[in-house]
Formats: sequence, structure tokens, C-alpha cells
Amino acid sequence: METTFKNKVALVTGGASGIGRATALAFAKKGAKVAVVDWMENDEMVNLIKELGSEAIFIKCDVSKIDDVKAMVAQIIAAFGRLDYAFNNAGIEGASAATQDCSEENWDKTIGVNLKGVWLCMKYEIPEILKQGKGAIVNCASVAGMIGFAGLPAYVASKHGIVGLTKTTALECATQGIRVNVVCPGVIQTPMIDRLTGKTKEGIERFKGFEPIGRFGLPEEIANAVVWMCSDEASFVTGHVMAVDGGFTAQ
Ligand code: NAD
Repeated sequence: METTFKNKVALVTGGASGIGRATALAFAKKGAKVAVVDWMENDEMVNLIKELGSEAIFIKCDVSKIDDVKAMVAQIIAAFGRLDYAFNNAGIEGASAATQDCSEENWDKTIGVNLKGVWLCMKYEIPEILKQGKGAIVNCASVAGMIGFAGLPAYVASKHGIVGLTKTTALECATQGIRVNVVCPGVIQTPMIDRLTGKTKEGIERFKGFEPIGRFGLPEEIANAVVWMCSDEASFVTGHVMAVDGGFTAQ
């Protein structure tokens, strides 16, 4: 079965960089019109998607702010008239600190973007996707949504929260035509990982050491899984927690 998203509309949050960027391009390659959503200005993605023969809009939005998210979904409906797929991927790593040293500001910001942001997006996406009678949502957690990671308490809590939220929303939507799944990337070569490794030899080797497969994943390897989970090839897959992690959580 060849996946095609012709005449469908996909939304990707955090679409200006890394995993979101690769997924926005992957949706476009399959024919979807794409709304690239980010709080960071971006004038490159719309042109790249047009070069792939599809349509795109960029929407500036902070996913942790309810008014931004409401307006963002409304803007997509105004531009394209429908919404079929969403990849709720925007996220931040927050500052590294042990649980007792984590500041309230770091906690609130990390939970606000990563967990509240995914909830807010689904809150406004679901009514629009329901109008189509069929669609799919993929949320982006992390291996840190499946196991602990010392020094990142707010990040780990936010990602475990996304996993529980995804399972709950999947149950709520199961008979309504919307499948809801969560992808848990391992260590993926993106600007976020550059920040965590500090791009030092030691930092890179430390993170490579988490990966039985012996290398970092590529953003496109997460994009492939997301596009598959949205496609009809995954028509019986909902509430699923998919590790795409080079074996990280198999250890
Ligand atoms: P990245 O920093 O390259 O991209 C994240 C994007 O999200 C950026 O464009 C940023 O501007 C945007 N963003 C951040 N906060 C936002 C907000 N409040 N509103 C709108 N946009 C916002 O990082 P990435 O590695 O591509 O991360 C994407 C997702 O993948 C994140 O949720 C991250 O936690 C998750 N993840 C990444 C890895 C990895 O190894 N890179 C591993 C596991 C999970």
C-alpha cells in the first residue's frame, strides 16, 4: 500500500528544526499540505515544501499558550479548510539539574512547553479532525518517557506525562476515527542533542554510549515512523508507545 496524503492537511509543531523539520518535509513528500508551527521565526520551510510540489504555511505559535494554540488551529482552517494529521513535537530539554536542585521556573517552563503544549494542541486539533471523521495524531515523547534520566527531572516527568496523556486520548477517540500514538526517539542528531553534548568529543561519546546501534539516529528516521503511524498502513495502531531508539530501551 503506497501512502499518499494528497488533499490532506498535516500540522507539525516544532517544525522549524530537527525532528519536526524532517517530519514536515516527509509529510510534504507524501503530498500533504503542511502547517509548520514554531515559536522561532522561519522563512525557509515554506519554500522547501513548495519546492517539493506541495503547499505550506508557517505559523508562529508558542504551544504553551492557549490563545496562541487556538489561533494557530484557526489559521490552518482558514488557510486549508481542514485538518487531518498532527505531529505534536515541539519540546525543550530544560536546564540540567538534580531533582532537589531543579528550580520552579525550570520545572514550570519544561512541563508547560512539553506536556501542557501537547495537551493544548490536542484540545484544539481533535474537534477539527473529528469533522473529517478520520485522522491521526502522533505526539513526541522520548526514551525519557519510558525510563528515567538522572539530571533531567522535569523533562522526564513531562515525557512520561505525554505517554499517559496519549493513551488516554487514544481511548477517548478510539471509536471516533482518530488514532493517537506516541513516538519515543532515542538520541537523534538535532540541535537539541548538540546542546546536550555541548558538541564536545566527551559529550558525543557519552550519548553514543546510550545507543546499542552505535550511532545517533537521524531526524528522518523518526519522521518515517510518524508518517507511518499517520498512514492507513497503521489503521489498527492506536494508543501505541513506539520507541525509535536504536535499542536504547532494550537494554
Ligand atoms: P530542536 O531543538 O532541534 O527542535 C525543537 C523545535 O521546537 C525548535 O524549532 C523550537 O523552536 C521548537 N519549540 C520549542 N519550544 C516551543 C514552543 N513553546 N512553541 C513552539 N515551538 C517550540 O529539537 P529536536 O531534537 O528536533 O526535538 C523535537 C522533539 O523531539 C522534542 O519534543 C524533544 O524532546 C524530542 N526528542 C528529541 C530527542 C533527540 O535526541 N534529539 C530525543 C528524544 C526526544
